[in-house]
Amino acid sequence: MKTELIKFAGDVPGNEIELRVLRFSGSDEQAASAYLQSSLHGGELPGQAALHFLVPMLQKAADEGRIKGNITLVPQANPVASNQWQAYQHQGRFDTFSAVNFNRAFPLLPDFDTSDLPQPDAPEALIKRLKAALLRLALPHDIVLDLHCDDESENYLYIAEDFVEDMKDLAVALNCTAILAWDTTADAAFEEACAHPVLQIPADKRNMKRRAVTTVEFRGLSDVYAEQGAEDAAGLYKFLVHRGVVEDASVQLNLDYQGLVTPLTHVEMIRAPQGGMVFFHVKPGDVVSEGAKLATIVTLPGNPEGDIVLTAPQAGRILTRRSLRYLRRGDDVLKLLGDKPSAVIKRAGALEA
Ligand SMILES: [Zn+2]
Repeated sequence: MKTELIKFAGDVPGNEIELRVLRFSGSDEQAASAYLQSSLHGGELPGQAALHFLVPMLQKAADEGRIKGNITLVPQANPVASNQWQAYQHQGRFDTFSAVNFNRAFPLLPDFDTSDLPQPDAPEALIKRLKAALLRLALPHDIVLDLHCDDESENYLYIAEDFVEDMKDLAVALNCTAILAWDTTADAAFEEACAHPVLQIPADKRNMKRRAVTTVEFRGLSDVYAEQGAEDAAGLYKFLVHRGVVEDASVQLNLDYQGLVTPLTHVEMIRAPQGGMVFFHVKPGDVVSEGAKLATIVTLPGNPEGDIVLTAPQAGRILTRRSLRYLRRGDDVLKLLGDKPSAVIKRAGALEA
């Protein structure tokens, strides 16, 4: 394994950051290559835990001459987000300078040519240079896995619709219960920026069986345990073996995906009509019928007349819920995966801010 440090001058003097890139060289030029990054949102650690345990597995494979395709890993993809704290709280989702979500506004390139993107020393804002560097690292690979997590959640994947059929192997390998399939913009998330050049290729020339581009949501923010990390690493490893990136005759993948494939239009984002304290009546993984009680928002503590009961707009599976039990008006409360299009949510773009 080779370790590369990419250095970026800060936007003001004395604030240099560095990106740590780990590379394994493949022995077979025909083999698929893979790029895995985690913690684009700084404090989202289940994916980082998975990579922590995956790297030694890959090193063993390298020592035994079993790495077939090039593999690039960036376990801490966003040193800016990693270092954003305010009043003892970590703030990894939004750039505190611009209030822009770190996983939005990536360049959507017409092809795989990244030569026009700013270099680490370009006269551009750091976050633009960092995003350019991540895209430049990822795009040469057939497989791009961007490892995130939700708040409280099951394992699930975001996948562009055109990729879904050929990526159920990943969903099986990672024990995902759902695939959320998108076909409009995801507000230029990293995943979309990596899928975009592929989607510009005529459908009969893309070789989708070789490709995979996704945002992996590895459960919730607090689901960070050594055992779980090792299990997730084993899932990623199994997928890499299945795709021929790594050779390992002892690993087999069952290809029978039993989970849901849900278009984004069928995702009910249950929102808080008013602020207050929330009591949940359901948890991720629960299957509910239409009209089932999902949560109660207490708007007048001490007076039950102020309680607002949120119910299921259609039958479905609870995928996520928020961990903070204090809500503001309009906040996302939970995601329910329905069988039919949501009657209330009209969207083009990402599900969440
Ligand atoms: Zn994230």
